[in-house]
Amino acid sequence: MARAWSAWAFSLPAELLDTAARIFRAEANDGYRDRVVIGGLAGFVDKLHDAVGGEQAAHAAELLHDYAMLAPAERADRLKRAHGLLTGGEVASPSDAGAAIGRPKDRRDGLVRPVAPRPGAAPAGVSLSTPIQALKGIGPVRARVYTRLGILTVQDLLFHFPLRHQAFPPALPIAELFFLTEGSVLGTLERVEVENLPRGLKRLKATINDHSGTVHAVWLRHGVARLGVQPGDPIGLSGKLVQLGRQLTFENPEYERGDGVPLHTRGLVPVHPLTAGLSDRELRSRIHWAVTHFAGRVDDPLPESMRTQHALLPIREALRQMHFPRTLEEHSAARRRLAFQELLTVQLLVLKRRMSWQHDPAAALPRQTPALEAFSGNLPFSLTQAQLRVTDEILNDTALARPMTRLVQGEVGSGKTAVAALALLNTFANGYQGALMAPTAILAEQHFATLSRLFDAAGPQLEVVVGRRPRVTLLTGSVAAKARTSAYNDAASGVADVLVGTQALIQDKLEFARLGLVIVDEQHRFGVQQRVTLRRRAADDSPVAHLLVMTATPIPRTLALSLYGDLDLSAIDEMPPGRQFPKTVLLGSDERHLAYERVLRAAAHGEQAFIICPLVEESEVLEARAATEEYERLRTGELQSLRLGLLHGRMRPADKDAAMRAFRDREFDVLVSTAVVEVGVDVPNATVMLIEGAERFGLAQLHQFRGRVGRGGQPSVCILLTELPDPQASERLRVVASTTNGLILAEHDLRLRGPGDFFGVRQSGMPELKVARLDDAPLVEAARAAASTILSADPELSQAQHAALRARLDAFVHAAEPS
Ligand code: ADP
Ligand code: MG
Repeated sequence: MARAWSAWAFSLPAELLDTAARIFRAEANDGYRDRVVIGGLAGFVDKLHDAVGGEQAAHAAELLHDYAMLAPAERADRLKRAHGLLTGGEVASPSDAGAAIGRPKDRRDGLVRPVAPRPGAAPAGVSLSTPIQALKGIGPVRARVYTRLGILTVQDLLFHFPLRHQAFPPALPIAELFFLTEGSVLGTLERVEVENLPRGLKRLKATINDHSGTVHAVWLRHGVARLGVQPGDPIGLSGKLVQLGRQLTFENPEYERGDGVPLHTRGLVPVHPLTAGLSDRELRSRIHWAVTHFAGRVDDPLPESMRTQHALLPIREALRQMHFPRTLEEHSAARRRLAFQELLTVQLLVLKRRMSWQHDPAAALPRQTPALEAFSGNLPFSLTQAQLRVTDEILNDTALARPMTRLVQGEVGSGKTAVAALALLNTFANGYQGALMAPTAILAEQHFATLSRLFDAAGPQLEVVVGRRPRVTLLTGSVAAKARTSAYNDAASGVADVLVGTQALIQDKLEFARLGLVIVDEQHRFGVQQRVTLRRRAADDSPVAHLLVMTATPIPRTLALSLYGDLDLSAIDEMPPGRQFPKTVLLGSDERHLAYERVLRAAAHGEQAFIICPLVEESEVLEARAATEEYERLRTGELQSLRLGLLHGRMRPADKDAAMRAFRDREFDVLVSTAVVEVGVDVPNATVMLIEGAERFGLAQLHQFRGRVGRGGQPSVCILLTELPDPQASERLRVVASTTNGLILAEHDLRLRGPGDFFGVRQSGMPELKVARLDDAPLVEAARAAASTILSADPELSQAQHAALRARLDAFVHAAEPS
């Protein structure tokens, strides 16, 4: 190695070397105050590296990168070693610049130590894709440990990002550590003593000197007691300090050899996710090694023009600063860059999906005003402004031969069904069929009943303006075989104008004569794949259907752009007049009796109540058992005078349906249920929603529950019961109690708990986000804009500058959708 360095030094322009030596000397004479170069010595060495390149210059630059933050003693040492590197791996003789920069006297004159205690320099033949097991020091057993962290290759090391950074202070001379409770030092390890304690415990006591004094360090250890730093070696320490009289001791400090770039001590030390059998030091060293040698080999997926436009770091710097930032600003710049890249991937995926969706022509369904007016004129209410606006947006879309892909969001009770009915009616009036898909049989039946009623009311007029009234057909798993066969025939022959159903609509061999519009209600129950399958119902040569998705889940715009970024967005952001929102109250578990009193009072008025049992995330079985126990407890206890029903996720679909139906038909006063009840069945007579363990639910989900009661216009209440007087949880719950705006709650959820709570995140096929936050609106919008720019110029990402991006996208699609 030393020889290679010498060879390289030979080729270093003598002039540059002279300049460097002169500057180093001046810096030494000035007392290491970093004043001799404008912008600092670190910048100078960086430029030197840029000018000459090469591994040694890189190491020198690395050694001095945090020069400005170092204590004078450490500056002297670093400068000396950087100089050694630049002059060929040997410390210069006393007459040259090395001596002139004031190298402290030590016992190791003659040889420069390796730059850092790394697990070896970049071995020949190692590349980004080299399996971790092929690296020195990693056998099959250790490789399995790394695999548990998802680290299979050298590249994976680079992308194993730290959870946080621990900030240690810069090194001070020992004499200046007195009276500090925490500190860092750089000195020489004088000696180590090992004391055997009971039960195999060992106490290591080290003595460290520098020019200003002596400090001790103690560690308690099991088993082998070795520091890996020898007496006489330079050592760096960071940690808690305890002072007893004039004796100063580090307690269990972080430490490392003092002659390299600080990795475990002094400065921002990364804390990486770990697993059993892997120490933080080992992983950190390994990642540092990978960053040093391989970060520069990662192809940057972001073209330079884009980086410039959005002020983003090159990938190489981003990777270094993500793991080993010099300052917090560096770290956030790295985060921003890497987050942008993730968000861009998401946006490219959804926009490409949208492009492929819109690739085939759809049937143009112009606005059939007389039919629409006949329908509206016979509604039992007049449409809200929001309903009118959203209907307009839909009809503008479907009038074109480009397939619509639109998401309508509207809170529970905002009147989405009427909007869907208008869209279906317009499709019918154009001579095309429509399909409406709901997540459960009972919801499908509800829609079937509503549509039939509304179309019947307009029937006589429709007969005049269209020539006939639409024929609505129901198709669910519980429809009898004979009726199902005739539904199939009617769909295929075109006799059925509107098909309302469940997943049966996509699972069965169902064909349509002329399918013009597909509506999916409560989208979060369906994945992207199902949307696509549903569309394939159109015969091969016919135009594709328009797609409308409806959801009651409020979705923050940033999340919508990512999750449903392939869809256009409409919001029914206004409630029909007269709707009373349930009052929300918060009770501690010692006030539970008040909640039951309220339930009993409702029942006395002939009203009904939901009781929702706590969420058990890990296990539907446990959750079902808890609900069953609660049901038994209440049935024989506080609520024994009432009729109780039970509903949970482990019941057979038919039984779930039956329970829900019986509750709707007032056969029970109270439905004890798990969260499965949350999808929109109308029980207009329910006025009490009692939620146990409310702190375990997302705010938006609580809001959904709340929307289930008070639909008949009577005063209603939502009672949130919490187990613990946990202030953090209560704070969240107070937000629910204080607003009826679902979007505010959803944004709160997204900020506090991330996107995992939002339905559909998992089914969406969205890449896993390691760095990006979906509540970072400006960055999401920027990534969206960048993705459209790229795709409009290069839809297939076939340009050379997009090759790395495309590789990344392909890799993701591959991983997410194994065929
Ligand atoms: P969503 O599906 O959005 O939760 P629905 O379509 O089921 O809401 O409508 C909820 C209730 O409000 C229904 O009883 C419906 O008849 C009624 N409704 C819808 N639009 C209006 C309106 N503009 N004015 C008054 N009532 C309305
Ligand atoms: Mg609805």
